[in-house]
Amino acid sequence: MSGTGKPKSVLIVEDEKIVAIDLRNHVESLGYAVTKVVPSGEAALKVADRFSFDLVLMDVELDGKLDGFETANELRKRQDAPIIFLTAHTDNRFVVSAKEVGAFGYVVKPPRGRELAIGMELALYKHEGEKRLERERDRAERAMAAKSEFLANMSHELRTPLNSIIGMAELALDRATDSEQRSYLSILKSSGDALMALINGILDLSKIESGAMQVAEEPFDPLDVLEASVEAIAIQVHKKGLDLDFYADPALPARIVGDSGKLRQVLLNLLVNAVKYTNAGSVSCTASVEDEVLRIAVADTGIGIPEELKEQIFAPFYQVDQTSTKRHPGTGIGLTITKKLITMMGGSIYFDSALGEGSTFEIDLPIRLPPEGPAISASESVREPESLEKVVLGLSRDTQRQLAADWLRSWGIKHTEVPVPVTAPAPAEHNPQTAILVDEASAAGLEGRPNAWVLRRFDDRAVSDSSGRTLFEPLTVTKLRGVVSGRLESRKAPETAAPEGPSAAPLRVLLADDNAINRIANGRLVESLGYRVTTVEDGQEALEALEKEIPDLVILDLEMPRLDGYDAAKQISSGGTGSEAARVPLVALSAHTSQEARFRAFRNGFSAFLVKPFSRTDLETTLINILDPNWRGANISRHFLEELRARFDASDWGELEAAAHCGRRALKELDPDTSNGFLRLLLAARRKDAPSTNNLIQELEENVPTKS
Ligand code: ADP
Repeated sequence: MSGTGKPKSVLIVEDEKIVAIDLRNHVESLGYAVTKVVPSGEAALKVADRFSFDLVLMDVELDGKLDGFETANELRKRQDAPIIFLTAHTDNRFVVSAKEVGAFGYVVKPPRGRELAIGMELALYKHEGEKRLERERDRAERAMAAKSEFLANMSHELRTPLNSIIGMAELALDRATDSEQRSYLSILKSSGDALMALINGILDLSKIESGAMQVAEEPFDPLDVLEASVEAIAIQVHKKGLDLDFYADPALPARIVGDSGKLRQVLLNLLVNAVKYTNAGSVSCTASVEDEVLRIAVADTGIGIPEELKEQIFAPFYQVDQTSTKRHPGTGIGLTITKKLITMMGGSIYFDSALGEGSTFEIDLPIRLPPEGPAISASESVREPESLEKVVLGLSRDTQRQLAADWLRSWGIKHTEVPVPVTAPAPAEHNPQTAILVDEASAAGLEGRPNAWVLRRFDDRAVSDSSGRTLFEPLTVTKLRGVVSGRLESRKAPETAAPEGPSAAPLRVLLADDNAINRIANGRLVESLGYRVTTVEDGQEALEALEKEIPDLVILDLEMPRLDGYDAAKQISSGGTGSEAARVPLVALSAHTSQEARFRAFRNGFSAFLVKPFSRTDLETTLINILDPNWRGANISRHFLEELRARFDASDWGELEAAAHCGRRALKELDPDTSNGFLRLLLAARRKDAPSTNNLIQELEENVPTKS
């Protein structure tokens, strides 16, 4: 036996007396201490309750109720000591069973001197090694968790001041007339945006690594997500003079279950990269269905990815050409996050790329259909009774032609394709039941034609052109549907979408934030949208201000000293500041993005939740929406339903009941029907009646609009 200090102690379990005595002598002669020698499993367990030992020598065939293996199993629950079996047989069955109970070795009886000594040494050594490994793994896991938590906290801390920097830059940019100043300010703003993107990326990554990122399970229309993502990059694409193509298979189910927000994030990442790394040609997004798999490909004709670097592209902070960071600003974590999100959603991602020719990223997502029904394809749900008989297509790009042809066919509408550019359409086509859809190349031949549509790129001069009605690229199913039903409104050019301030008498907003810079920046931002703003420094002051004047809406930061936003909202909404003030819509501001924070906010009476930092558009949309009681009702219902679903999934009946109660109260005036639904839910939850609770939640989910 090696080492000094206290000798290692050994428990011997052996029912043959003579063998037991022999073993004890043998073990002691090797320099170990013998804790006890016992004849049965039961006796061994008793010893284990009172004494500790470093090693067990265990006979396999024991008299009494427990054999050696069973005893070993029980011992293990009491003490973590390695066990060596003593056996007369070494057949296969024995070896398998010994392995199953995690034996550290076995020795054939009667043990010979060296054999026993080596077996014991090895067992102790191996056991010590395993423990060390376990300790190290624990330490590493703890360090990892601490790192993730640190990153998450740090990101929040960084976002708050950065929010002010970006907000102030935006405001100053709005007012600056001097061109030199404007150029400084726009650099300030775009650097702020870039830093914010990086921080958000790190936050996402740390959330994924710490396991805090959750994947939603909600039914959604995949076509909506695809089209919204493609539309979002349209302006960028056309500014670079690229073509933008979209194709979706009409077999796409109209509803699938999953996380629409994360799918959108993934698609945007890929699409933004495609635009960023492409200088000529096109960017395309195509979706098809194959064997219950949704396959989405984002392709570009850009710079491509060099062969030797393909392995590393999904690794964090990796950019192909480190020297090109200036030309292509980015963080190198977009694809890392993309891949992790896709994996979390049960899908996979591949790519193919040739240097100088372009890249294609392909996502495969298993399709899960909602339980309520079979797959209705997206195309079946759109047939318009009063729609056309025929569409004449004069489109020059393959993908556009394919999209139009496939979907028209799926709707049962005839189409013909004519060579581009379309000159004089045949007189027979002057039929009110026929529409014509052409691209820019053919726009000139269409003067005076009814039912004529021109597909254009985003472009300043496009809007003033009067021939035909204008659609903007990319061609999507929604736009095609509009052509068919004749009810499509031409999209406004982006420049004309100026924010419309509230009319005549400006609406009054009370804003409470303890951070002086945020208070000023956000106050100005609200003012710049045309509202009149009163600012206060905490919840207590907000309550006092409400005593003097009732505003049209109140914005409360959640984290404030003295009285925080949660408590202030609770007092206001429960009538503590009067019944008139209780009806004023409340907006929560927070740098925290956790589900719990949102749940708590809505329970305390908020109708909307804005995560800091927010863009001017986010703020504007929220403020305009929240003044509409219908929107408020739907938003509150949606949030409570999200909470109810989460609590139900966690079988957290107490919280479920409490949430139903708060939801019911919050919706009492805004939406009495849903409020009643919440009451029925509350009663079912009180009975812990899982099937009814589930049905009621589902019923409510179906009735509440899911989109804002
Ligand atoms: P970044 O923010 O730098 O774009 P990503 O993780 O999204 O980070 O991408 C990592 C690197 O992969 C990029 O820096 C770029 O070099 C390369 N890359 C990604 N997408 C494309 C693409 N479509 N074409 C060419 N290179 C690409």
